[in-house]
Amino acid sequence: MITRREALKQTAAVLAMAATLPIQAQPTPAPAPTGPFTLPPLPYPVDALEPYIDARTMEIHHGKHHATYVTNLNKAVADFPDLKQKTVEELLASQATLPEKIRAAVRNSGGGHFNHSLFWQMLKKNGGGQPQGELAKAIDASFGSYPAFKDKFTEAATKVFGSGWAWLALSGKTLKIESMPNQDAPIVTGLQPILGLDVWEHAYYLKYQNRRPEYIAAWFNVVNWDFASERFSKLQS
Ligand code: MN
Repeated sequence: MITRREALKQTAAVLAMAATLPIQAQPTPAPAPTGPFTLPPLPYPVDALEPYIDARTMEIHHGKHHATYVTNLNKAVADFPDLKQKTVEELLASQATLPEKIRAAVRNSGGGHFNHSLFWQMLKKNGGGQPQGELAKAIDASFGSYPAFKDKFTEAATKVFGSGWAWLALSGKTLKIESMPNQDAPIVTGLQPILGLDVWEHAYYLKYQNRRPEYIAAWFNVVNWDFASERFSKLQS
């Protein structure tokens, strides 16, 4: 049996030894690859879309969710020098020929990066209203009127089951409203996106909780129709 004094001496000795030993090195995780894909900055301050889309949601949506898609897309292509040269559009379009082990990552994170990069530009402070010019004419021709388009788009966005997007897109020369699950990018099915609405819960839950229809109605107040019209014109030419 050791005395209390001996025990204290032993403890002191152990502590003294520990003090002279280098701190054991922790295995450090490999840093996330930083390229070739990068998170585009938001084209406006995070609170620009208040009160329709709140600043905190924008911060997390852009700075965390979109950033994670970028990080994971970079990880997916990290070991493939030839794929690192491609654009996200090229990667998405050639999914079937990609190495199998990165196919799902490109579909999900590449799709997420592509969709969100467009989404930020499709919104603006003091947006909303109605499209003008050629896009307005095409919407009238395809859906009857702007209100009819709005109803149909709202219905498509409301009915997305689980996570996904509603899109106004060009299929050839025809305007269509399509919903797509998860982060599937419209370009993969030959659709050229004009306007997209993210209805993942991460896009609205902090402010609207389960009230997706309220978020959809609010979102129309910040739509950047100028951007959508420009895209429409470019894709037509
Ligand atoms: Mn999102």
